[in-house]
Amino acid sequence: MPSDPYFALIVPACSLLLGVALIACWTAMRQQRYLLWIAAGFIVVAFPLGAQSLMSNNQLPNWAVLAGALYLGSVWAISRGMAERYGGTAHPRVALLIAAVTLALLYYFSAVSDKLWLRILILNAGMFLLRVLPVRSILRRAVFTNGLERLLWASYLLLVANSVVRPLAIIILMPAEHMGELTQSGLWRAMLAVNMLIGLAYVLTLLASSVRNILQTLRNERDHDALTCLLNRRSFWESAQQCLHGPRPPGWALLVCDVDHFKAVNDAWGHAAGDRVLQIVGQTLLQQVRQEDLVARFGGEEFVVLLRCANVSDAAGVAERMRRQLAQTHCHAIKGAVTASFGVAWVLSFQDLPQALERADGLLYQAKKSGRNQVIYDVQAIGRL
Ligand code: GH3
Ligand code: MG
Ligand code: MG
Repeated sequence: MPSDPYFALIVPACSLLLGVALIACWTAMRQQRYLLWIAAGFIVVAFPLGAQSLMSNNQLPNWAVLAGALYLGSVWAISRGMAERYGGTAHPRVALLIAAVTLALLYYFSAVSDKLWLRILILNAGMFLLRVLPVRSILRRAVFTNGLERLLWASYLLLVANSVVRPLAIIILMPAEHMGELTQSGLWRAMLAVNMLIGLAYVLTLLASSVRNILQTLRNERDHDALTCLLNRRSFWESAQQCLHGPRPPGWALLVCDVDHFKAVNDAWGHAAGDRVLQIVGQTLLQQVRQEDLVARFGGEEFVVLLRCANVSDAAGVAERMRRQLAQTHCHAIKGAVTASFGVAWVLSFQDLPQALERADGLLYQAKKSGRNQVIYDVQAIGRL
C-alpha cells in the first residue's frame, strides 16, 4: 500500500490534464465539437476521484450522492461525445432516468443503510448503462474503415468493460471486513492506474483518429472541385497515373465534354443557375460510369472522363448515353435542359495521356463545329488497338 495518500492524486490530475489537452485540440479543430463533451468527461471525473482518494472511510457516505452524480455526469459526457462523433445518440432522457435511479439508490445505501459494496455495485452498474447507451446507434451508423477507428472503438469498449470488471474485482479481491478501507487500499490505487491507462489509450487514439479525419477532409477538399464534388484537374492526373499503370487489358478511353452555349445560359439565367447546371452535368456523367472510371471537372464547363473499356467505340457509346441523358434532364434553374458536345480518344499509356487529351479536344472542337450536341470519336484508334 503506498505510504503517501497524495500519490492517488496523480490519477485525477492526469485525467484533468487529458481533459485540458482535449480542449486545446478542440481549439485547433473546432468543427469536432464532440471533443468538448469528452474533455468535460475527463475533467469532471477528476473531482470525485481526487476527493474520494483523500477521504476517510467515515466521510465517504456523506459524499456518495454528489460523487455519484459527478461520476455519472462524466460518463454520460463521454458517451454523448462518442455518439456525436459517429452521428448516433446518447439518449439523454434514458440517461436521466438511469442517473435518477442510481442516485436514489446511492442515497438509500449511504444515508439510510450504509453499504459501501452495494454503492460500488450500483454506481458501476449506472456507469455501465450510460456507457452502453450510444453503442447501438454508433454501430448502426459507423463504418470502422481504418485501423485507428477500430482502435478507438476497442478502447471505448475497454472503458465499458472496465465498468463491469472494476466492481467485480473489488467484491472478489477485497475482504468484506476491510471494505471500509477501500480508498486507502492498494487495490484502489491499482484500479485508478488501470482506469488511467485505459483513459490514456482512449484519449490518444481519439486524438490520433481526429487528426486523421481532419487530414482526410483536407485531402478531399484539395482533390475535389468544390462545386461539383468531382475530381479536379490535379487529382485527375494523379489518379489517372494509378489507373493507367494498373493491369491491362481492356484499356482506357478519354472523353472530353463541354457544355454547349454555356455563356448564354449564364447570361440568361444568372451565374447561380449556371452553377446548378454544372452540378447536374457532373451528376449525369457520374451516373453513366463505373466506380473504376474517373470523372473530373477540368475548369469552367469542361469535364474529362477516363473510362475503362474494350475499345473506343464502346467509349463513344457511353459518351452517347451521357449526351442523351443530359439533353433529357430538366434543370429547374433554367426551366429546361442543356446539351453538351463530346470528343473521345483512345489512351495508349500514361505517357500518352497529354496527347490523348489533345486528340479528344480536337474531336470536341469538330463536334462543336458540326453543330454541337454530338459525340465524335477517334475512328483511327480502332485500327491502332
Ligand atoms: P460553346 O458551345 O462553344 O462551348 O460555348 P460556351 O458559351 O459554352 O463557351 P464559352 O467558352 O464562350 O463560355 C464558357 C462560359 O462558362 C464562360 C464562363 O463565364 C462560364 N463559366 C466558367 N466557369 C463557370 C462557373 O464555375 N460557374 C458558372 N456559372 N459559369 C462558369
Ligand atoms: Mg461550352
Ligand atoms: Mg469551354
